[in-house]
Amino acid sequence: MAVTSPSRLPPFPQPLRTPNRRISRVTLIRSTSSPMNRNSHSKRVVVCGGGVIGVCTAYFLAKSGAAVTLVEKSSVACAASGKAGGFLALDWCDGGALSSLARASFNLHRSLSEELDGARSYGYRPLTTLSLTVTESHSASSGSKSPGSSILPSWVDGSARTPRTIGTAETTAQVHPQLFTRTLISKAVEKYGVEVVIGKLESVEVDGDRVNSVVLEGGRVIESDAVVLALGPWSGKFELLSSLFRVYGLKAHSIVLEPKESDAITPHALFLSYYHSQGGKPMDPEVYPRPNGEVYVCGMSAEAEVPDDPEQIVGDPESIRVLKSVASSVSSHLREGEAQVRAEQACFLPCTDDSVPIIGEVPGVRGCYVATGHSCWGILNGPATGAAMAELVLDGYASIVDLAEFSPARFVGRRRKF
Ligand SMILES: Cc1cc2nc3c(=O)[nH]c(=O)nc-3n(C[C@H](O)[C@H](O)[C@H](O)COP(=O)(O)OP(=O)(O)OC[C@H]3O[C@@H](n4cnc5c(N)ncnc54)[C@H](O)[C@@H]3O)c2cc1C
Repeated sequence: MAVTSPSRLPPFPQPLRTPNRRISRVTLIRSTSSPMNRNSHSKRVVVCGGGVIGVCTAYFLAKSGAAVTLVEKSSVACAASGKAGGFLALDWCDGGALSSLARASFNLHRSLSEELDGARSYGYRPLTTLSLTVTESHSASSGSKSPGSSILPSWVDGSARTPRTIGTAETTAQVHPQLFTRTLISKAVEKYGVEVVIGKLESVEVDGDRVNSVVLEGGRVIESDAVVLALGPWSGKFELLSSLFRVYGLKAHSIVLEPKESDAITPHALFLSYYHSQGGKPMDPEVYPRPNGEVYVCGMSAEAEVPDDPEQIVGDPESIRVLKSVASSVSSHLREGEAQVRAEQACFLPCTDDSVPIIGEVPGVRGCYVATGHSCWGILNGPATGAAMAELVLDGYASIVDLAEFSPARFVGRRRKF
């Protein structure tokens, strides 16, 4: 099986965090608790897709006074937004198109956590992050110390080599992605009046060149002044979008373990170069302990067809077996007998051909917006995407992040036939 994995490691050496004007502006963003004062209070917006991107968009739209309906075909955070790692980094996207989006979002995560008691309700916490090299092993702890091993926490007692600190509690953090997304939608419903409709979007209806409603499977029509399509990897199955650009799914696997001695596990996220005992190219799985005592391990990704129903996505047994081997090679606490397996799962990263998310108004359909293609950074970038999308829909312009680079208009005239 061809195995690929989108790299999340920061460039080596770590980029210097030189302050610039854009950065100092985004660090001022606060997630205030009162709705902003706008003239557009009664604007009716339908947000389609109940992943982190749709939910963040619905939250900020409703908080700003819009009348929001969220349409989700299965359940909120049933797909990647419920099965992701939830790792957040301030500066790992620096130097690329995502830089200001990621920085704004990292800071929004911090202020949202203050507002929603994120530490308690969805496991928000700052983390130390290490990179290290691990070779598959079937024995107990290696016992041998390699250079730099003093920075390794004691539970990482497998065959770890060359550890390096690549994130600190100031620059890296985590959330439990499903709890984050569900906490946000609960707040949006209770405090800002969002209505959640479980149903499948079938079509977006236009009057002239302007959106006027959406139609759900079964024929229900919801009238709207604006529609936001946040369908993740299912964007590629929606003709209005797939006729303009390609969004494809990269299937990735994860397991959730619950070690008996969960108190031994410290808040250290691990980014591995993992070598099979028989040799070959290294893989790059990730290990995230969570404050609830669980340890999440992910990796093993490859392009695959996205099934229509998110509930039908299951992991490939060989990929799950490799992730268990990764866990037990990292720590004796994560070996069979020492840890219960709480979940074996898979989900799809929504990817674009130029690796840049697509956020903006759909060319030729006024009032219809799209937000997708966040690949391996959707949990990080959800809040700033949602806040920027709310501004774009209600004010016609996003001030939080410059969305020009993300515009779907970049694909006009470039779509090839598939
Ligand atoms: C293994 C793994 C680990 C990851 N780890 C991290 C991480 O540590 N940090 C990070 O920032 N990101 C991470 N990601 C990436 C992140 O999970 C995604 O970028 C993000 O969840 C995408 O969110 P989304 O809302 O665009 O899509 P999704 O979560 O896929 O949501 C799309 C929703 O749309 C719904 N839908 C689809 N079609 C329709 C329709 N016709 N009508 C109504 N609803 C519909 C679906 O049911 C689904 O709920 C990880 C991803 C994977 C796979």
